Amino acid sequence: VNTMEEQSDRSSKRKVVAVVGGGLVGALNACFFAKRGFDVEVFESREDIRQAKVVKGRSINLALSHRGRQALKHVGMEEKIVSKGIPMHARMIHSLSGKQSPIPYGKKGQFILSVDRANLNKELLTEAETYSNTKLNFDHKLQDWNAETGLMTFVRCDGSKQQIEADLIVGCDGAFSAIRKQFLRRSRFNYSQTYIPHGYMELTMPPINGEFAMKPNYLHIWPRNTFMMIALPNLDKTFTCTLFMPFEEFEKITTGDEVIEFFQKYFPDAIPLIGVDALKKDYFRLPGQAMVSVKCSPYHIGNKCVLMGDAAHAVVPFYGQGMNAGFEDCIVLDEIMDKFNDDFSAVLPEYTRVRVPDDHAIADLAMYNYIEMRAHVNSKWFLFRKYVDNF
Ligand code: FAD
Repeated sequence: VNTMEEQSDRSSKRKVVAVVGGGLVGALNACFFAKRGFDVEVFESREDIRQAKVVKGRSINLALSHRGRQALKHVGMEEKIVSKGIPMHARMIHSLSGKQSPIPYGKKGQFILSVDRANLNKELLTEAETYSNTKLNFDHKLQDWNAETGLMTFVRCDGSKQQIEADLIVGCDGAFSAIRKQFLRRSRFNYSQTYIPHGYMELTMPPINGEFAMKPNYLHIWPRNTFMMIALPNLDKTFTCTLFMPFEEFEKITTGDEVIEFFQKYFPDAIPLIGVDALKKDYFRLPGQAMVSVKCSPYHIGNKCVLMGDAAHAVVPFYGQGMNAGFEDCIVLDEIMDKFNDDFSAVLPEYTRVRVPDDHAIADLAMYNYIEMRAHVNSKWFLFRKYVDNF
C-alpha cells in the first residue's frame, strides 16, 4: 500500500512532520509541532496503549522535575500531570539497621514528582489527538527510511508494508532507534553506547491497611555500595521498588529462600513491607533489565531528520533526567524554530550545535550519579551523622 497519493490529496499545503515513536517524548513533541501548525503524523510500533490491556515498557513510575514540567507547561499540560503526581521533597535514606534519615532535594517547598509512566504517555497521546492537524498511527513500525527523499517504510502486524513521505522526520523512537540506523551509515557521525554492569528489577510494595507502607512524600533509597534499591510512591498507595545490582549478582540468586537471605542481609526492613511470599515470587517474574547510555552527534541529517529524546541520548536512570531532558529537547527545538522561522535547513544544525553539549552533560551526570547514589549518599550521610552526633 502506498499512501503517498493520499498524502498529496490533502488540501493543505502545510509541511508534513512525521514523528516516529509515540512514547513520552514523541507524544509531547507531536503537541509542539501541531501547535506550530504543521501537519503531524505520529507513527508508533505498538498498539494504542490507551486500549491495551497490558502495557509493556520500562519503569512503572518516573521522577518528573523542573525541566520536564516547563515543557509540559508549553503545551498546557503541566497542571493535568502535576495533579496526578506525588511530590517527593527529599530522599529518605534507609540504613542497614532500618533507621530512616531524610536528605532534602532543595530548599523548603522544592520537590520532584513521582508520576505514572503509562498514564503520562496516555495523557500526552490524548492531548496530541486534540489537534485537528495531528494523526496518530499505531501498529506502524519503522523499518527503514531514505535520508535523501525522506521516504519511510513501515511494517504492520499483518506483515504488510506502507511507504510514507514527510518533509521532516523526527526520530523519537527510543534508545534502540531505527531512525538512528541511517545516521550510523554516514560519515562523520559520532556514536558510542555503553551498557553498565548493573541491571534493574521492579518489585511492588503493597499498601498496609489501605495506607502507604512507608512515608509517601519521599524517594526512598537503600544505598548499599554495590547494590541499591529505590522506591517511588504511586497513586494507588503502592510503592514501586527498583533493585539495582550487577547482573552476576542477580544470577547468583536462584531460589526463593536465597532471595529472602539476600534481602535479610542488605534490605531487612523492606522484607515485611514487600512481603516474604511476594518477594519469593516477584523476584523471578522477569530477569534483571539492562541499562544503556548512548551518546551521538550530530543529531540531524540536512533539513530532513532530527533525533530527540532517548533516540539521541539514552542515559542511565540514576539522575532521573532521561525523560526530563527529552522533554526539554522539545522546548529547545521549539525556540530555535521561532528564531529561524520554521526553516528546517537553518533550525536543525542550530539544534545540534546548542543541544549536543547539554545532552552529553546530562549523560555524564547520570553516569556520575550511578556511583553517587549507591555509595556516596552513604558516606556523606555518615559524615553528617558524625557531625550531628559530635554536636
Ligand atoms: P521511549 O519512552 O523509549 O519511547 C520510544 C517509543 O518509540 C516507544 O513507544 C516505542 O514503542 C516506539 N518505537 C521504537 N521503535 C520504533 C520503530 N521502529 N517504529 C515506530 N515506533 C518505534 N527519566 C526521567 O526523567 N525520570 C526518571 O525517574 C526516570 N526513571 C527511569 C527508570 C528506569 C528504570 C529507566 C530504564 C528509565 C528511566 N528514565 C527516567 C528514562 C526515561 O524512561 C526515558 O528517558 C524516556 O522514556 C525517553 O522517552 P522517549 O520517548 O525518548 O523514548
